[in-house]
Parts: sequence; structure tokens; C-alpha cells
Amino acid sequence: MSGPVPEADPLTDAADVVAAGEGVWADLVGQEPTIAALRAATQAAAARIAGRSSDADAAPAGSAAAGMSHAWLITGPPGSGRSNAARAFAAALECERQGCGECSACRTALAGTHPDVTLIRTDQLSLRVDEIRELVRKSAMSPVGRRWQILVVEDADRLTEQAADALLKSLEEPAARTVWLLCAPTVEDAVPTIRSRCRLLVLRTPPTEAVAEVLRRRYDVDAELASFAARASQGHIGRARALATKPEVRELRAQVLAVPRQLGDLAGCVNAAASLVRLAADEARAATTELDAAEKAELEHAYGMSTGNRGGRGRSRQLQSVQKELDDQQKVRAKRFQRDSLDRALLDLVAYYRDVLVVAMRAGAPLVNEELRAEIEARAATTPPEEVLRHIDAILACREAITANVAPLLAVEAMLISLRQSSLRQSSSRQGP
Ligand SMILES: [Zn+2]
Repeated sequence: MSGPVPEADPLTDAADVVAAGEGVWADLVGQEPTIAALRAATQAAAARIAGRSSDADAAPAGSAAAGMSHAWLITGPPGSGRSNAARAFAAALECERQGCGECSACRTALAGTHPDVTLIRTDQLSLRVDEIRELVRKSAMSPVGRRWQILVVEDADRLTEQAADALLKSLEEPAARTVWLLCAPTVEDAVPTIRSRCRLLVLRTPPTEAVAEVLRRRYDVDAELASFAARASQGHIGRARALATKPEVRELRAQVLAVPRQLGDLAGCVNAAASLVRLAADEARAATTELDAAEKAELEHAYGMSTGNRGGRGRSRQLQSVQKELDDQQKVRAKRFQRDSLDRALLDLVAYYRDVLVVAMRAGAPLVNEELRAEIEARAATTPPEEVLRHIDAILACREAITANVAPLLAVEAMLISLRQSSLRQSSSRQGP
């Protein structure tokens, strides 16, 4: 990509941009094609600013000077770094040096405090229309600084239909210096009318080795642990970091993977189900307790500050109602974290049985649970592949049931009992004629 950017730009020294990571791109692990596209867009955007800096109203909708677009949809599997990519891009657009990672524009954009970068994410099940309307109002304004007004919607898959409608207008008639960055797990998760107006960027699951490298380099994790965490996380960077740096997370995972050994009898299944659900709840609680407390403190602080000049019962009533709203939001979040955590446990179990399949079919692919190889080989020797597939189906059915709001404990019990029954069928048919 040639552009007005001088060759001295440290970011064009691309040999190890991804492996070693430079500037704001350093956190985008294993995403070379995406980084290339974003850097090209950043260059095009800088050229537009440099060349036609007084064109505030002139840029027509969707005008994309070689690679720049006013609306992007960034998709990728959980943990691939969608919101990291959006923040890095936002920082690069605001930075005089296209993403040095060190200047105040970069740092504030990455942290979500840059005046021209608005980040919106939700712990709720959907993004409300009033939140989006506020963003849309902001999108019509010129940036405070000299560059871009950037609006990042981290959970575009959670837009209500109404919210999507509100957003659509701004995507159709964008202001000259406004850039929308929408994130969603897959293209299908975004409303069609929205995705047709966005340029699509697809993140991939980062390769295990790239994840391990980042753990070693950035978190000073030793090689063996880094490679275990990268493998066990299956390319989910946040999960890999937690596994590498928190012994309690590794312990929880080990307990989840002990479940297949506990299905000897019905009581074992019921106990294992209860402990799976409890583990998920424990993990979720560990994640939310600190967040909850910080938010409460922040809220009280904000109201405490305002008591200086205004007073009265009105405000205290207002505080109560805001506190109530926060409580409700925190409860929804706790539930969502618990569900996510249980889902992760189920995916760990799927990976376990997938490893059994790999061994049984002599597929030769690397095992996710290499450290359990002996156990997995023993299981593969006694369980035919079609049986293992039925196990995997039962786990996936359990995930679906939980998504459809079946009580988690019931769904997990049903799953484990069905795993056990299919094993029983298997052993009785082996003893048959
Ligand atoms: Zn910078």
C-alpha cells in the first residue's frame, strides 16, 4: 500500500509487527490480514485529512478513499479480539503517527477516554434504543479534535430492532468525519440492513503458537504454561491469559475435565451436574464481585460530589432510583457471566471428547488436552467413534437448552445422564452376542 506516509513510519517495518507487536497493533494476536486492512485504511484516512482538511461536508456517503470506510463491521469468534481490533483502529485513526501506541491520543482511545472516541458495550442482553439514539446524536457532530468522531458499538449483535433502525439513518447519511465501528460474533448476528452498509472485517481464531508467544512476551509466563494455556483456551485470548496467570482458573478447569470420570452411576451424574453448575457460579461471582463494588462506589462518589451545590430529598430519591437500576443491571450481568462460564465449561468438555475422537480415528491432530493424553487414549480404546459423537451431541444439546432458558442444573443433569446412558448402551451391546 503506497501512500503519503513516509517510509520511516515504524509500523511499515512489518517483519515482526504481529509476532512482536508494534504500537496499537500489538494486541491483535494472529490477525495479520486484518491488521493489513486496518493499516491501509488508517493511511487512507490520514491522506484524506492531510489532503482535504476543510472538506467537513463534502465527503459523500460511503466515499472510501482507497480502503477507508465510514462504517465497519468487525466479526470474529469469542476471544479473537473484536473489541481490541476496534479500539486499536480507533487509536490509529486519532493518532498523528497512525497508531504509535504511546501518544496521548493512542492511550486515551485505547482506554475509552478519548473525547472523540465513544465506546459502548453492554452487559445486558440488549442495547437499548435510547443508548443508540445518544450515539447517533453524537455521530452528527464534528470531532472535538482535528481527526475523526469514532463510535464503537462492541455488541452490535445485541441491538434491538428499534435501536438498529435508529442507527441505520446515521449509517446511510454519515457526517464527513464520523466513523462507526460495529462488533459482532458473526455477520449473521448483525441486522442485514446494517451489515450491507458496513465494510466487513473477519477476525480468525488466533493460532495456538501466536497466543503462547503473547503470553510469554507480555505476561512473562514460562514456555510450558504458556503453551498449555494457549492450547486449552483454543485461541480465546482472554481465556488463555486467565489460564496462564490465575491458578484458580486452572483448578476450575481441571475440575470440569474430571466430570467424564464421575459418571459411573446415577448419583455420580447428579453430583457432577451440581458441581459443574456451582463451578460456573463461583467463577462468575469471582468476576463480578469486584466490578459490582467498583460501580457502586463510582455511583456514590458521583452523587456525593454533587451534594456540594445542590441538595434536598429529590436528589436522594434520585440516587435510590439510580442505585436500584444499577442493582438490576448487575443482576442481569451476574446471570450472563454465569451462563458464559457454564458455556465455557461445556465447550471444554466438547474439546475433551473431540480429543478422544482424534485419538480413536488416528487423525494425528494436536490434542487440546495433551496433559490428559493417557486418559484420553484409554477412553478412545474402549469407546467407538460414533459413541463419542453422541456424547458431543448431548453436550451441544445441553448448550442449546441453556440458551433457550432451560434451568442450567436441569439441562446439565439431563446431559450427564444421557452421556452415562449412551455409555451403558455401549457396554451392554459389547457384552451382547
Ligand atoms: Zn499515537
